[in-house]
Amino acid sequence: MIDISNINKIEWKNTKVSVLGAGKSGIAATNLALSVGAHVLISEHGDLVKITATQNLDIETGGHSDKILDSDVIIISPGVSDKIDIIQKCKELQIPIISEIEFSSWFTTSPILAITGSNGKTTTTSLLHEMVKNAGHNSMLGGNIGIPFSENVFTERESGQKNTVHILELSSFQLEHIELFSPQISCILNISPDHMNRYDSMDDYLKAKLNIAKNLVTPAWLVYNAADPALEASLRDRHRTQLFSRLTNQQVNYHVNGEKVYCGSIENPQILFYMDETVLKGPHNIENIIAAATMANLFGVNDLHVSDAIKKFSALEHRMEPVVSPLPLNFINDSKATNIASAMAAINSFENITLILGGQDKGETDFSELLESMQGRVNHIICYGHAAESIHSHISSYGDSFAIYNFSDAILKAIEVSEDGSTILLSPACASFDQFSNYEKRGDRFKELVSSLGVIHE
Ligand code: ADP
Repeated sequence: MIDISNINKIEWKNTKVSVLGAGKSGIAATNLALSVGAHVLISEHGDLVKITATQNLDIETGGHSDKILDSDVIIISPGVSDKIDIIQKCKELQIPIISEIEFSSWFTTSPILAITGSNGKTTTTSLLHEMVKNAGHNSMLGGNIGIPFSENVFTERESGQKNTVHILELSSFQLEHIELFSPQISCILNISPDHMNRYDSMDDYLKAKLNIAKNLVTPAWLVYNAADPALEASLRDRHRTQLFSRLTNQQVNYHVNGEKVYCGSIENPQILFYMDETVLKGPHNIENIIAAATMANLFGVNDLHVSDAIKKFSALEHRMEPVVSPLPLNFINDSKATNIASAMAAINSFENITLILGGQDKGETDFSELLESMQGRVNHIICYGHAAESIHSHISSYGDSFAIYNFSDAILKAIEVSEDGSTILLSPACASFDQFSNYEKRGDRFKELVSSLGVIHE
């Protein structure tokens, strides 16, 4: 078995690696492990594996066999739960189990800037990437954003490119099984309930997120939102922390005041940007912007490069994305809002809303938590999908609400009940998997329907 306390001494050519899960990151980790000479077994519980066996690569499908127990190290993909039998057996045999993020980090010495949180990761990570690129670095965007970290590390090693900076979006799943991973700057944006079908408690979920700064040593920094109660309670006594907040000017590098965001000291503030100079709308996006700016600033990116990236940033699909329609209504596709906090952020960004909630509940969600933010903003609610009845029972006291199973029928109902000029907001607070393969497909269906239904409203 490998000795994690001495990774530089590992002779990969004599090392047996098992990779659990053959999704994108499992395959990328396999390629990286093969490139350093390891013998790899990739094991997938489904039937499909998009990689071919070679002399150093064995493949098993349809489940995880005991062959895995003959390994020196296990790399577990983010989609594979820690609770499955084979992992329990590996633990009994004390085989080291590491995440794909941990493994990849062993093969790069370039700086890593990493972001986690319940919401806003993709937005903040993409924006930080632009800021770092503006400053002339070879910024490589990876992690949960779609390109595995191990793929970027593989590319970096193969190309021999210099001046690389790895910018990582990390989910809580990717932060399980962290040992030595140590970003130069890490950030936790916020914490609110999510993925409660995978974690036993909020505490377990928070613990996974905090792993981002498990190995924080000077000169590294941890950036977090001072206004987030769970983060403040867990991190207030930590060293090397830098706060951001849109609600206070204390101990922060960027100050929010009305329609402007300032950099510089409180005594000598300079305008970084005006709110109407960015496509990122709503209070939550201001938090994402100042989080990215704070990280860039700690990394040495100057404020001109920071503000330029903010002003040029284009909107991301499926995140409060305006959809053009021939109807006299505003349509917003926020299909990526798959938990309560993200739906709440969208509700707080609009008025005169017809709200579409629903899909597949991620674990006994209390949808009544939305009621407060709905006051004065939401006129009608359409609940759809698997969770329709459950959501409806939580929010029916609010007023005009409907439960309709089929997604397309729910959109038609939303159009039928909405007054001209109002905003039809798809911000479902649930996963999409009951009727779609992912949130992108759900958002695409919404956009297709909305742009093709010009005659229905008459
Ligand atoms: P993530 O990658 O964490 O899922 P995204 O940037 O993709 O985050 O945004 C996901 C959803 O969360 C979108 O609906 C978006 O409008 C909402 N959102 C973005 N930033 C925040 C934030 N800071 N707080 C709450 N909700 C947010």
